[in-house]
Amino acid sequence: MINNYKEIKQWCDERNVKLVAISKTHSVESINLLYKQGQRIFGENKVQELLMKECQFSPDVQWHFVGHLQTNKIKFVTPFVSLIHSVDSFKLLQKINKQAIKNSRIQNVLLQVFIADEKTKFGLSESECCSLLEDKEFVRLKNIHISGLMGMATNTNDEKKIGKEFKGLKKMFDTLGVKYSSDNIEFKILSMGMSSDYRIAVNEGSNLVRLGSVIFGDRKIAG
Ligand SMILES: *Cc1c(COP(=O)(O)O)cnc(C)c1O
Repeated sequence: MINNYKEIKQWCDERNVKLVAISKTHSVESINLLYKQGQRIFGENKVQELLMKECQFSPDVQWHFVGHLQTNKIKFVTPFVSLIHSVDSFKLLQKINKQAIKNSRIQNVLLQVFIADEKTKFGLSESECCSLLEDKEFVRLKNIHISGLMGMATNTNDEKKIGKEFKGLKKMFDTLGVKYSSDNIEFKILSMGMSSDYRIAVNEGSNLVRLGSVIFGDRKIAG
């Protein structure tokens, strides 16, 4: 089932917001329906599922990885994945760099920032982002390109609270963007907003939204 895709895509286009269709748990057929409507950026959160789907589409599809990336699985995604949204440690970055070198690619990544008041979500604090970007070893990661930040708000109906969390992340994005800029650091993507809160996120300055259920319908399996 594909819901409202055209309207949402238009809504995003009018605001210069990139739309990543989060296709986790949804079938290749469903992804193909969106592809036929012009969608070219898809996101997955499990490596195995991503690999199974990626090989069934032409290379004009950009695949994003939005889940927690286990270090032993990095090598499977670095040959092709266009953006990893979920980097939350320097160690992970070093390992991604190593695999990117093997593939002769520059790997674009976002730092995942913790903004929610939920223990279940991953991410760095602002000071941890700074330490990571100031690490003496960072300049050696020639095959890494930091393209911005990603964050997930608390899962709540309290729109004020969500707005506040996104506002904080936007502020951090602007601050870090001024403070850090080099060959491999360029703060241009602010990935925030999912089906339930993307309007709030865009209102607070998001320029990339990750939408699953609002486009594909409800997920059958928890993801
Ligand atoms: C599943 C997922 C989404 C999409 O969630 P919906 O609520 O279905 O839009 C966005 N971002 C991440 C990191 C996800 O895991």
